[in-house]
Amino acid sequence: MFSQLFVNLTILVTFLFFYYQVFREHSFSRVTPIPVRLFTGILFGLLGMVLIGFGIRVNEYTLIDLRHIPIMLSALFGGWIPAVAAAVIISFSRIAIGGGVIVLYPLSMIIFSTAVYVFIARMVRNPWLAAFYMLLCSNIYFLIIMMYQLNTVDLYTEVALSYWFVSFAGAFAAVYMVKRLTYSNQLLHKYRAESLKDPLTGLDNPRSFAYSLTKNLEQASKMKQSVSLLMIDIDHFKDINDCHGHTAGDDILRQLGTVLLEMVRPEDSVYRKGGEEFTIILSNCPAPKAVDIAERIRERVEKYPFLTDHQTLYITVSTGVSIFPGTAVEERELFKQADDALYQAKNQGRNQTCMYSKKDLIK
Ligand code: GH3
Ligand code: MG
Ligand code: MG
Repeated sequence: MFSQLFVNLTILVTFLFFYYQVFREHSFSRVTPIPVRLFTGILFGLLGMVLIGFGIRVNEYTLIDLRHIPIMLSALFGGWIPAVAAAVIISFSRIAIGGGVIVLYPLSMIIFSTAVYVFIARMVRNPWLAAFYMLLCSNIYFLIIMMYQLNTVDLYTEVALSYWFVSFAGAFAAVYMVKRLTYSNQLLHKYRAESLKDPLTGLDNPRSFAYSLTKNLEQASKMKQSVSLLMIDIDHFKDINDCHGHTAGDDILRQLGTVLLEMVRPEDSVYRKGGEEFTIILSNCPAPKAVDIAERIRERVEKYPFLTDHQTLYITVSTGVSIFPGTAVEERELFKQADDALYQAKNQGRNQTCMYSKKDLIK
């Protein structure tokens, strides 16, 4: 009997592992949207069905398994909606197995357990403690109904001991798995998001820039639209670091990030390319409009009071502009042209915007 209950435990743990792998994009908690919680409750109900399928027949009428644990997990982590969904499915599968009026015992246990689990999940925040109280209640109920079903003391003792041991082991292993897998999924989301962000300014980073540029150009080709690329570089930034310190330089970079975000349209995106250079992708934006936006940014930055610990500093920026498909027909060319145009803006005296043009650059 013990080894059969162990099989139940293995099914439970394997299910949880696959569930959290397959649905790693959807968190399962009380704030998860109702359809997702309902769906999860249904899956947990199906798990309960499988557990019943692997249940241990103690005598003609009695079947024991870990079916209550999916209901417990649903209540504990997702609230009453998934718990009830799981309980309904598990009840129907128990009815389908049959047993006449005897079925009322397990059904009453499922109803009792679900109500108690939902109540305890609301009252006790610590999942370990909540799981402990939940099992205590449902296992006591189990002992009582077993008393009516098992007539020999030896069998009763064996069933009770195995059941208590495995149900506690199963529940705690399941809680551990859910907490662990939820945590590793959260870490995955966090690291994925961070891998696309620049830590100093909070702007998107060059990796994110590369993804977006490809996507934007594909979209623009399909829709027959233009995409403009602005490459912005702070003028004489090294002098600012040298005169006012690296921390003041960092303050300026952070604030410039905010200014750039404020100056673009919602459909545009701003990136920190690295150092004191920024890039902006302007979606559906032909050349005159791109130059206009770049110039507005330049004028705003020139007048903007950047606050550092000790004083207010002023900076200027130079910008290179290239257009897809106006000046460049592919991604690398677009990037190179914006860089060339920026180089030209620097050469012509800084604090200005240059649109890429082969003619000017040859000169
Ligand atoms: P130019 O007008 O030609 O662009 O001159 P510049 O001084 O801005 O350009 P240069 O490439 O010579 O110097 C860039 C400076 O940017 C040097 C480096 O110390 C500074 N820098 C790069 N990354 C950071 C950063 O994260 N924080 C700070 N404070 N400074 C940075
Ligand atoms: Mg610079
Ligand atoms: Mg630079």
